[in-house]
Amino acid sequence: TPLSHIRNFSIVAHIDHGKSTLADRLIQSTGTVADRDMKAQMLDSMDIERERGITIKAQTVRLDYVADNGEHYVLNLIDTPGHVDFAYEVSRSMRAVEGSLLVVDSTQGVEAQTLANVYHALDADHEIVPVLNKIDLPASECDRIATQIEDVIGIDASQAIRVSAKTGVGIKETLEAVVHRLPAPKGDRDAPLKAMLVDSWYDSYLGVVVLVRIIDGVIRLKDRVRFMSNDTVHLIDRLGVFKPGMLPMEELGPGEIGFFTAQIKEVRDTRVGDTITSERKGATVALPGFKPAQPVVFCGLFPVDSSEFEDLRSAIDKLALNDASFSFEMETSAALGFGFRCGFLGLLHLEVIRDRIEREYNIELITTAPSVVYHLYMKDGDVRDLHNPADMPDLTLVDHIEEPRIKATILVPDEYLGDVLKLCQDRRGVQMDLTYAGSRAMVVYDLPLNEVVFDFYDRLKSVTKGYASFDYNLTGYQEDSLVKMSVLVNDEPVDALSMMVHRDRAEMRGRAMVEKLKDLIPRHMFKIPIQAAIGGKVIARETLSALRKDVTAKCYGGDATRKRKLLDKQKAGKKKMRQFGKVDIPQEAFISALKMD
Ligand code: GDP
Ligand code: MG
Repeated sequence: TPLSHIRNFSIVAHIDHGKSTLADRLIQSTGTVADRDMKAQMLDSMDIERERGITIKAQTVRLDYVADNGEHYVLNLIDTPGHVDFAYEVSRSMRAVEGSLLVVDSTQGVEAQTLANVYHALDADHEIVPVLNKIDLPASECDRIATQIEDVIGIDASQAIRVSAKTGVGIKETLEAVVHRLPAPKGDRDAPLKAMLVDSWYDSYLGVVVLVRIIDGVIRLKDRVRFMSNDTVHLIDRLGVFKPGMLPMEELGPGEIGFFTAQIKEVRDTRVGDTITSERKGATVALPGFKPAQPVVFCGLFPVDSSEFEDLRSAIDKLALNDASFSFEMETSAALGFGFRCGFLGLLHLEVIRDRIEREYNIELITTAPSVVYHLYMKDGDVRDLHNPADMPDLTLVDHIEEPRIKATILVPDEYLGDVLKLCQDRRGVQMDLTYAGSRAMVVYDLPLNEVVFDFYDRLKSVTKGYASFDYNLTGYQEDSLVKMSVLVNDEPVDALSMMVHRDRAEMRGRAMVEKLKDLIPRHMFKIPIQAAIGGKVIARETLSALRKDVTAKCYGGDATRKRKLLDKQKAGKKKMRQFGKVDIPQEAFISALKMD
């Protein structure tokens, strides 16, 4: 296909604004999939993505479209991941295309992820076509939302297309806009091959499948190609495009988007953003901006039932095969036994992996407090990364500690603004900006990531009754006064509960923690001291009093069934407990104790 007849684009939207439904409609109306084979959300593959309505792996589909002018066009749609944790992948896939459809729900308006994603698109120099979706709904307010797009994002929305992805109204206009308002790709067929690695995943039949955008040159079946980041060479044994099933091709030229396989064993060998060239007479300069995605949030995953450790290992191995940004190493904890210290791109990524282990592999897990990566500057000049508070060296050896910070953008209806400001302030935030878009405020805060990783989303949702939208990106590291707080139950340290905290907040956090634990740990036959400490210094303390009577004592005499029920209930509760020294701590305590109110 000549460059003039190719259009490459993505759809950017806040979650639930109709990205997947619109993609389905475009696939259907170009006849890419026969009506009888059409199922909802063609591009969303994993179950968990469908349930949560998020797309994690970039998917792509090639649409053949005959425009009103009678010309045949190839339209490549890349569906980008929709969540902040995958920001790097979003920004890479944006660089593989020239334009975006900006979908905004005309009953809702611009949200935090609309902004975050549109900024990625603008960064990638996209031409942007605004699409107002859900016009079939009575609450649709196209004129108001068009004005809001102009005010908040600063792009012309006078030509916004009014669409109902549900009923199909405006779909034809959308396809015409892709052809006439988005630019054709540029590229040189005669130059050495330069292809950008947009995404890759593991397929149990084909091995690693690589999604590429050809920038210059031509890639052909049986070519030997070089991955520039790690200087490995592979023979292309399968080449093609997605329609959305795999369609084999002999070659792909400039501007095209397709896949290949080359007997690559591990996703780790295929880095998103890498440049692929020919083995011989290849390009010498890679495409700019390549950096592998780094995990920023770490936590321990331990099986509730320690006999399931090997099952957990094999589950984690399998998940890592398909996810280069998920890292893990074995960890032993005095309290929790054998498990893994795992690294994630963010909290959602953590949740997705944890859910999949529990659901697909049927292993119950204890998750320790998520921790960010700290930079420790040692007195001897050494600089180390700290992934686990349990590994914190003696404070006297540490010169200073740096923690990661983020820029958080929150959009919230006016009436909840006060609560949001307070929440951010409580989390050591520094306000950077506050503007209004209609009746909604947009606040930008500089926050320590460590204050966000645990329950910030939950708190934000609850103080705003679900009306706030939130997005963030990492901005860098900054020195602060941080210490490790340990928790001791019955004088035994419970390493899974230790955490890094700001010195000024340590006492408050320590007190909250011991009070919570006092409620969460059942009473035993003896008194149990519960303490929070920094180094050797106790900063908070509670005592759980001893149990006086047998629990069944209150079931006076005769009622045997009732007595047995109570004992059974106790036993069931026991299963989910962990023993620490002589004390049983229920599994929920690990999560609940770390939440702040
Ligand atoms: P995504 O998260 O952006 O991919 O959004 P989805 O495509 O999954 O859509 C979110 C919800 O909005 C789903 O329940 C859709 O059925 C619904 N939806 C999408 N487009 C329309 C539309 O044009 N009209 C109406 N009434 N509902 C829509
Ligand atoms: Mg979707």
